[in-house]
Amino acid sequence: MASHLLTQLRVRPGTAPDLTNRDTDETFGWDKVEAKAELEVVKQRLDALQVRLFAERTRSLLLVLQAADAAGKDGTIRSIFSGLNPAGVRVTSFKVPAGREVEQDYLWRVHAACPAKGEIGVFNRSHYEDVIVVRVHHIVPKAVWSKRYRHINEFERMLVDEGTTVVKCFLHVSEEEQRQRLQERIDNPEKRWKFRAGDLEDRAKWPAFQAAYADALTATSTSSAPWYVIPADRNWVRNLAVAKVLLDTLERLDPQLPAPDIGIEQITVV
Ligand code: AMP
Ligand code: MG
Repeated sequence: MASHLLTQLRVRPGTAPDLTNRDTDETFGWDKVEAKAELEVVKQRLDALQVRLFAERTRSLLLVLQAADAAGKDGTIRSIFSGLNPAGVRVTSFKVPAGREVEQDYLWRVHAACPAKGEIGVFNRSHYEDVIVVRVHHIVPKAVWSKRYRHINEFERMLVDEGTTVVKCFLHVSEEEQRQRLQERIDNPEKRWKFRAGDLEDRAKWPAFQAAYADALTATSTSSAPWYVIPADRNWVRNLAVAKVLLDTLERLDPQLPAPDIGIEQITVV
């Protein structure tokens, strides 16, 4: 069941994600009330698997979240990881590079934020900004960013070889849904802090961003570090879909509790 969903969401290596034909409003026939209840069940299973991953301490999981502004990266993280042990989860939000980050290569800060053995790492934006916003805003020339797809594939390959499972989710919202959410950020005083004038400049470049995403997903969805395109116009669909991708990935990892010290069964604590 889950794996059929995953096949549907996954960008097959070597193929384009066909973003314009993927329905951002897809519900997979799910019912909202049932989906919310199911999310709670999935979260409990994620929690149990996280305990094992943490105890095993030999492998890690990295979830990369990329999306347009207001697509719900923060909300996804809050909804899925709220039930897990914070000690084993490491969330990193990547902003415009500053200070030393500017002076190093673009993967420097990314590598430093990767999860340690036993951890689940979550990237709220990532090295993909270096082939997306950087391209759309002409921050570096094409000759520079176009080489980065290969670096990224090789970097992720290294992470995988060294014990990190890499899962990448693109939260796919429609242009109209983004308009409504940005307007809500302006109208609702509680949400204004999330709004930047630059969001409108980026919104005006919507087609260029979509093209950059399409190219990035095409070039970097690999069998070892696949991209999943998550329909994100409805928060409850988005949350459950990402949670299911994570659950499937962790179940396949099947982390094992370490063997106890020999003879522990004979011990009585007095
Ligand atoms: P937010 O995620 O809303 O807090 O915004 C973070 C901003 O930082 C976004 O506009 C990103 O495009 C921008 N950003 C993140 N990484 C980079 C990067 N490597 N180069 C340029 N801008 C970036
Ligand atoms: Mg923002």
